[in-house]
Amino acid sequence: MEKWQKLLHESITDLDTLKSVLADKNIPTATVDSSLKLQFPFRINPYYLNLIEGVNDPIWKQAIPDSRELTDTLCVTDPLGEEEHSPTPGLVHKYPDRVLLLVTSQCSMYCRFCTRNRLVGKRNRPLSQQAFEKCIEYIRSNHQIREVLISGGDPLLLSDKKLDDILYKLHNIENIEVIRIGSRVPCTLPQRITDSLIETLRKYHPLYINTHFNHPRELTPEASSACNRLADAGIPLGCQTVLLKDINDSTEILKKLFLGLLRMRVKPYYLFQTDLTSGTNHFRTKSSVGIQIMKQLYGHISGMAIPRLALDAPGGKGKIPLSPEYIIQHGDKLVFENYLGEICEYQEVIDYL
Ligand SMILES: *Cc1c(COP(=O)(O)O)cnc(C)c1O
Repeated sequence: MEKWQKLLHESITDLDTLKSVLADKNIPTATVDSSLKLQFPFRINPYYLNLIEGVNDPIWKQAIPDSRELTDTLCVTDPLGEEEHSPTPGLVHKYPDRVLLLVTSQCSMYCRFCTRNRLVGKRNRPLSQQAFEKCIEYIRSNHQIREVLISGGDPLLLSDKKLDDILYKLHNIENIEVIRIGSRVPCTLPQRITDSLIETLRKYHPLYINTHFNHPRELTPEASSACNRLADAGIPLGCQTVLLKDINDSTEILKKLFLGLLRMRVKPYYLFQTDLTSGTNHFRTKSSVGIQIMKQLYGHISGMAIPRLALDAPGGKGKIPLSPEYIIQHGDKLVFENYLGEICEYQEVIDYL
């Protein structure tokens, strides 16, 4: 067994075991209620568990079940309308030129705020070969599809061989120009980024990976090494962070996260407003919080380190950028504020046709 498989195998999936492991690490466990009837799957591997330093810290809150998951009456099962935008099982087609392909329901850690908590961890198997072939057929016969996003679950939990098969088939579809993988493994199980995985991935350029880090404490030497090795294989890396209440909803924390990611050769891509997913209401911030944070980032740090703040609109309506306002007045002159709050002007073209 490889190291990552061993770590995955040693994952904790029940709250009684979690309590005893935390107690062994001298972390108080009074706030873990092992009688909770969990609605969403729980799994934490020893690598990610070891990042927990104390009760309710930012790592704990992402991974350990909370009773508020069971009392959320506001949010819904499928907030992004993925089921109704699914032409065949395993595919979500909501933008004309790109599709989402869900290849597995497994993750190396189940985020408590997961937008797909209706699916993940529940069926202990990858997408069936038959369903996968149907997805391939759909993609092949819809020529406007240029890009496939492979997600799940976490696609990098599949075996190298299975991934090779999926990538090979997609890469050989004439209309597919770019393949993108969404994976949290560089953050939650960086040991998965083995030489053999990299050899598999690098055959299918142009291949992009968007990963998912939410807090500077996740930027460990192991994660950094995983990202560097992917980047060395020519894979551009992006990060899709989720804005989470009492975890990373502060300018200081996000600044540290985004600058740290850039040093690891990961470009912050999206900062998401939390979706309205059942059981995750306690993670949501007001939209004004994210917009205010963005205003404190633009201009103050490298533009390379700044993601786009977006919310994924309910019902599959797509991602909507949320931006701070800089423009004060339109007219012959554009009047705007700069990042320091100074008022500036830009003379528009005259007689523009
Ligand atoms: C988010 C998403 C995409 C990708 O959107 P980008 O803005 O290109 O990152 C594609 N398909 C679905 C269904 C999505 O939810």
